[in-house]
Amino acid sequence: MTRTVYLNGAYLPETEAKVSIFDRGFLMADGVYEVTSVLGGKLIDFGGHCVRLARSLSELEMQNPHSEAEWLAIHRELVQLNGITDGMIYLQVTRGNPGDRDFAYPSADTKPTVVLFTQDKPGLAENPAAKTGWRVISVPDVRWGRRDIKTVQLLYPSMAKMMAKKAGVDDSWFVEDGVVTEGTSNNAYIVKGNKIITRQLSHDILHGITRAAVLRFAVEAQMEVEERPFTIAEAQGADEAFITSASAFVMPVVEIDGASVGSGKVGAVVPRLREIYLDEMRKAAI
Ligand code: PMP
Repeated sequence: MTRTVYLNGAYLPETEAKVSIFDRGFLMADGVYEVTSVLGGKLIDFGGHCVRLARSLSELEMQNPHSEAEWLAIHRELVQLNGITDGMIYLQVTRGNPGDRDFAYPSADTKPTVVLFTQDKPGLAENPAAKTGWRVISVPDVRWGRRDIKTVQLLYPSMAKMMAKKAGVDDSWFVEDGVVTEGTSNNAYIVKGNKIITRQLSHDILHGITRAAVLRFAVEAQMEVEERPFTIAEAQGADEAFITSASAFVMPVVEIDGASVGSGKVGAVVPRLREIYLDEMRKAAI
C-alpha cells in the first residue's frame, strides 16, 4: 500500500515526496529526528519526544518549525490517513536546502526540511522476543562526542547492527574506555537484586525518552536506581540485563558476548518493568 507521508506542509503519496540533493540532511547529516510509537492508534510519550526534539534543534541552533500542538496535529493526521493501529511515526528535520554545499550554516532564510512518515507494525508491543530475550555482542564505541543530540549520523550504529547480525545475535552494546555506553539504538541496563544500574546522562549517550519513564516507574515500584557506568564483565555477572527504546519498549538481554546473563533466561524483574511501562504508557497515550 502506498503510504501518505508529510513533507513541508503537504500530505503526499510516498512516491511524490521529493527532497533536494542539496539538502543538508543528505549532504552533511545536518538533521535531527524522533521516533514515536503508536499503540492502539494513540501516541506513546509524545510530550517526551517533543521536548527532546526541541532540545536537539536548539543544540544545533536550528529553529523549531512547529509548536507542540502543530506537531501533534501532524502526527495524528498521519496515523489517521494511514490507518495505523500499532507502529511508529518517524520525524526528521534538516537544516534544509541552501541551493549549494558549504560547511558553514546557511542564512536563517533557508527553510528547514520537515519529513514525517508512518511505519505499520501490527502487534508492536506483543513482540515474541520479549519472552525469550535478546543476545548482544559488545563493540568499541567510535561514534562522535555529542551522542546526546539525536542527529541522523547513524552510520556507525548501522555498522554495529550489521556486526551483531553477522555474529548471529540481536544487537550490539557500545563500549568506550572499558565501560558500556549504550546499545546501537537503545539504552542499556543491568539488574542486581533490587537495583537497576544504568549509565548516567551526559554527552556520551542519547537521553532516552523510554529511559526516563522506566527509571521513574522503577522508583515508584520501590526499586533502587543507580546511575553509573558498568563493564561487560559486570553485566555478564548481573542477575538480569535489558535495553529500552521507543519501539522495543523494555527488552530483556539474556546473553552478552556469548556469556549468559544470570540464568541465561528472561528473569522476573525485566518482564515486570515491561508490563508496568506498557500499562502506564497505554493509559497516558494520546
Ligand atoms: N540510544 C540511542 C543511541 C538511540 O538511537 C535510541 C533510540 N533512538 C535510544 C538510546 C533510546 O531512546 P528512546 O527511548 O527515546 O527511543
